[in-house]
Amino acid sequence: MKQTLKKTRAVVAIIAMLIALLFYVIIHFKDQRQHTSDLPTRSPPNDGLQYDLNIANQTVKDEWHMVTIKPGDTLRSLFVAQHIPLADLWSLTKSHHTRLNVLHPGEHIYYKQDTEHHLLAIRLPLSLEKELLITKNQQHYVEKIISLPTQTNIVYSSGTIRNSLANATKAAGLSSHMYSQLMAIFQGKVNFAHDLRKGDQFFLLYKRYTVNGKSLNRNEIVAAKLATQKQNYYAIKFSYPQNHTGYFTPKGRSIESRFLDFPIHYRRISSRFSYGRYDPILHAIRPHLGVDFAARAGTPIRSVGDGKITFIGHERGYGNAIKIRYDSHYSALYGHMNHFSPSVKLSAYVHKGDIIGYVGSTGWSTGPHLHFSFYKNGQPKDWLAMTRLSGNLIPDRYRKQFKETASKLLATLEIHATELAANNTHLMNNTR
Ligand SMILES: [Zn+2]
Repeated sequence: MKQTLKKTRAVVAIIAMLIALLFYVIIHFKDQRQHTSDLPTRSPPNDGLQYDLNIANQTVKDEWHMVTIKPGDTLRSLFVAQHIPLADLWSLTKSHHTRLNVLHPGEHIYYKQDTEHHLLAIRLPLSLEKELLITKNQQHYVEKIISLPTQTNIVYSSGTIRNSLANATKAAGLSSHMYSQLMAIFQGKVNFAHDLRKGDQFFLLYKRYTVNGKSLNRNEIVAAKLATQKQNYYAIKFSYPQNHTGYFTPKGRSIESRFLDFPIHYRRISSRFSYGRYDPILHAIRPHLGVDFAARAGTPIRSVGDGKITFIGHERGYGNAIKIRYDSHYSALYGHMNHFSPSVKLSAYVHKGDIIGYVGSTGWSTGPHLHFSFYKNGQPKDWLAMTRLSGNLIPDRYRKQFKETASKLLATLEIHATELAANNTHLMNNTR
């Protein structure tokens, strides 16, 4: 009998515990759900608009108000002026919103209130692209930095050279940043000091980035044409995997030359390429199948192209040397280095312009210099006499995509250029 009573009690206790647990779970879950729906930070990052809409849904009557900071304004004086309860200021400053403690005259602050003037949200633009957003989450405020949505559009520009390309771009209303871009694009093809004449023209399409209608200084040229008396030069921007972005001719060849002009900033060429002269004392031919660039010890040495390290170490007379294979035809040897760049390892890939080592005088050398040999199909070639190799072709599998991009951009460029020519003729006829 006693036993049965004990058992019953135990069962009742267990049931009670289970019921309590169930209630706890239900309440907690409900609480969690509410929490989630209240949390505007759940909206996707970098989506200012979405975020804004969430807040708008919660508070029906709210609207953003704007105040401009005047000298001497503080957060407190703003709150008083806008009839925001000071209790909100306390809970706002309790969390670490340090940026709001330093207000600059002329800055705009946007805020939202509920019907009782309680502060719901604050927005403080930090730059053209970013703003600080503080929103009320139950009893406290949470802050977040929002990236504002950026718009892009393609803009056409053109100009005629009267005395310089710099002035022509300026006259067309382009920034110095755009001028340098244009120079950089064509620098391998055009000698700006000698090839440009009065009357030469440039035509551009560039991508303009704006936020709320304000231009960010981040425009990028997507297509360019330089019409000189000698010839027309074209450049089309194109990207393909992995991380290959550059400017290409309409035929899909990179307009950047494939190799650097020189692997080093040298002082002088101390020995040229030669199959050798007959030495009357040694009765032997002493070839020098490379170029010696004399330079201060420690001067950085750069790979002239994109390639793979096939040798790194000590190579008899060449001292500390590196060999790089550029493709199935071209390779190079760099000798007498003082030391190698720590990032360069055997079988590693290097990019054109990457530092591979530093000038020294290791091996059979009488003074600091770089010995540079360049090979085509295994045969040494005189680097100084070689014609500049043109850039890489876009790989076959991306060529269709490139052709489409290029023909679209070039057509747009030509339409504008034709319109411009027509307008100019029209103008000339009128002034006659
Ligand atoms: Zn040499």
